[in-house]
Amino acid sequence: MTIDVLTLFPEMFDALNSSLTGKAREKGLYQLHCHNIRDYSKDRHKKCDDTPFGGGVGMVMTPQPIHDCICSVDPDHTAKRIYMSPRGKVLTQKVVKELSEESHILILCGHYEGVDQRVLDLDIDMEISIGDYVLSGGEIPAMAVIDAVLRYVPNVLGNSESTVDESFSQPMLEYPQYTRPQVFCGVSVPEVLVSGDHAKVDQWRREQSLEITRKNRPDLLEEK
Ligand code: SAM
Repeated sequence: MTIDVLTLFPEMFDALNSSLTGKAREKGLYQLHCHNIRDYSKDRHKKCDDTPFGGGVGMVMTPQPIHDCICSVDPDHTAKRIYMSPRGKVLTQKVVKELSEESHILILCGHYEGVDQRVLDLDIDMEISIGDYVLSGGEIPAMAVIDAVLRYVPNVLGNSESTVDESFSQPMLEYPQYTRPQVFCGVSVPEVLVSGDHAKVDQWRREQSLEITRKNRPDLLEEK
């Protein structure tokens, strides 16, 4: 998979050089290219933002550098082009899975009050939000999308890890997990988990999943 990111702050993506995303990159399981939108500005001061037409606070990212950057990076429109935006469709595991089937993704990160609408209408396929709150830029949302998508790319997760049993793999949250020691600060792990009875363990986990989902995300059960 190839991922092109368009941003005013490419250095922020150094965070992806660690952990799972870093290892996957070292193994060549995906290619990440970060493009500085400012490099494409035709303004003599490399300006990439301006005041909004109609008035109002803040600045808006100008269309020219973004449009030129997209046309240079993805001239034949082979990529699924995404704009990170609080106005977008909220990211779900279903959307993550669908994106993991793409061979080429392009992600545009906004800043300030956002991006001139014309470049979105001309060049972008979908807008994705990572939740109902506003961050100062699209870089952290883009990294969330990249991390979640890579978990579905073949060989990124090791043998011991899996997306099958996780929260949202079904419309339910995951059951509680325990590891050694069996007793910690005087608290033992639930007896059933050391019983060796796999059917009982499975049943306990299903019940726990249901209880946690009912408590924290009843909306998921209504979707079923
Ligand atoms: N004025 C915009 C609005 O009210 O919708 C918010 C702009 S925000 C300060 C700047 C940029 O951060 C956005 O263009 C977008 O790229 C990114 N961003 C902020 N919150 C986001 C979210 N929840 N999901 C995805 N991207 C987000």
